[in-house]
Amino acid sequence: MAVGVFDLFSIGIGPSSSHTVGPMRAAAVFAEELRSSGDLARVAGLRVDLYGSLAATGHGHGTMTAILLGLEGFHPEKILPAEVEERLAAIAESGKLQLAGAVDGGGVALEYGVKDMVLRPLTVLPRHTNGMTFTVTDGAGEVLHAATFFSVGGGFIVREGEEDAAQQELEESKKELPLPFRTAAELLGRCQSKGLSIGEIMFVNERASRSEEEIRAGLLHIYSVMEECVAVSLKREGLLPGGLKVRRRAPDWHERLLKETRDQDAGRQDPEYRDPKYWQEWVNLIALAVNEENASGGRVVTAPTNGAAGIIPAVLYYALHFAPGMDKATQADRDDVVVKFLLTAAAVGVLYKEQASISGAEVGCQGEVGSASSMAAAGLAEVMGGTPQQVENAAEIAMEHNLGLTCDPIGGLVQIPCIERNAIAAAKAINAAKMALWGDGTHRVSLDEVIVTMRETGRDMSSKYKETAMGGLAVNVVEC
Ligand code: SF4
Repeated sequence: MAVGVFDLFSIGIGPSSSHTVGPMRAAAVFAEELRSSGDLARVAGLRVDLYGSLAATGHGHGTMTAILLGLEGFHPEKILPAEVEERLAAIAESGKLQLAGAVDGGGVALEYGVKDMVLRPLTVLPRHTNGMTFTVTDGAGEVLHAATFFSVGGGFIVREGEEDAAQQELEESKKELPLPFRTAAELLGRCQSKGLSIGEIMFVNERASRSEEEIRAGLLHIYSVMEECVAVSLKREGLLPGGLKVRRRAPDWHERLLKETRDQDAGRQDPEYRDPKYWQEWVNLIALAVNEENASGGRVVTAPTNGAAGIIPAVLYYALHFAPGMDKATQADRDDVVVKFLLTAAAVGVLYKEQASISGAEVGCQGEVGSASSMAAAGLAEVMGGTPQQVENAAEIAMEHNLGLTCDPIGGLVQIPCIERNAIAAAKAINAAKMALWGDGTHRVSLDEVIVTMRETGRDMSSKYKETAMGGLAVNVVEC
């Protein structure tokens, strides 16, 4: 299927779309195949090989535990945080995994845990650095089923040997779209010939597979999960897991902002009122809240990755609370803003998926945080009344000033620099949208040029800076 808005915004668990969500999805696919093959009952042995970046930073990203859950049959979009804790505790206590059977029974109990996985950090498979192989054998050691998958960013997976078929299927499915586009130039051409905005072009394409009501309800649900993620995070205090001793800051900052609002606005008694003087602090707060929840393995919306999951909710929060005219908006107006924002952001996300990558392991953090910042800038510019040219300009400015951003998380954990980086990138997105809206849409560097530059920069970047925790902050900051 062509990449759509519900591929770019999907519900999953933290801390990483490529290292947690993708591997869990791949393991779940493998478990399902095993069940339908009829060989499940004969399985006596299991082997999991992790390659490249998954092996190098998997412990910090929860890759191994995500794979255990996937092998039990859990899918990232359905599993609840409580189930994660419950099943991992059960596996740790019993030392046994319920292969393809923990969700609805009928699985095979195997003695298997994280310590049994084979880590091969220095081996990078040809297709992608995030490779993993699952192999099951019978009692005589005969291989019953084996498969290699790649987690290619944003929770997307590709199976070895099916890359060409998957690409062909993708190209075929694009032919079914009424208004397909691969580049920003094509997208702008569609806008001009049809007299539609960027968000409306994306909407017309989504209509090829869903009704208008389904699209709207689906996007509002996505936003409700973003809001829920913030609400949960603001109630959780203390240190983030992983041993870096990073303290959650969002709950304190929230208290402080509420106090400032009460002090400044005595008598107004509107719980939705946000003092415009503190717009930056609110944006920071939302980004931190989402990414602290992500870092602790909570439920987040991949947007378009988990490491960058705070940027779009933070900029959308700005659009809903601080954009001109929103103080008089009805609930229906607010819903319209959410739908329009996410459709526009997704249209820009499609451009990154088509021409470059949203995987930190492939192109560094510019592909994760940079892409999210660019998507958010476009969404904001559109809901603030930008023309397609201004929206494209906003997306271009945001990415241009994220070029070269490396991925070097300390301890392989999605905490430092990731959490603050989301707040900074959200601010860049808002500034990019404002700059574009003060122009007339004409500009020197096109979005396509900047996307290609991001791809080439990522290709030239040393692998030390591509989610391996072997360079940058990851080696220059002492973990204690
Ligand atoms: S540095 Fe960027 S790409 Fe790397 S894990 Fe953190 S957010 Fe993701």
